[in-house]
Amino acid sequence: MANEINKNLVKCKVCSGIVATSARRCPHCGARLKMHPVLGCFLWIVGLIVLFIIVMVFLVLFMNYRKIR
Ligand SMILES: [Zn+2]
Repeated sequence: MANEINKNLVKCKVCSGIVATSARRCPHCGARLKMHPVLGCFLWIVGLIVLFIIVMVFLVLFMNYRKIR
């Protein structure tokens, strides 16, 4: 019985309230719960790609700036 409850319910890290695993936000304090692992990984990859593009754009701009002078 206790294990069954633990499978479907998790403790909120912020307020320690009991929250259903299917809930995206804690109903007690509104804190965001743990993100879906696949979605979290996807966001990490997208973030890294965006960061890489920004760095490349700055590098190209810097190279062009040096060529002009
Ligand atoms: Zn909470």
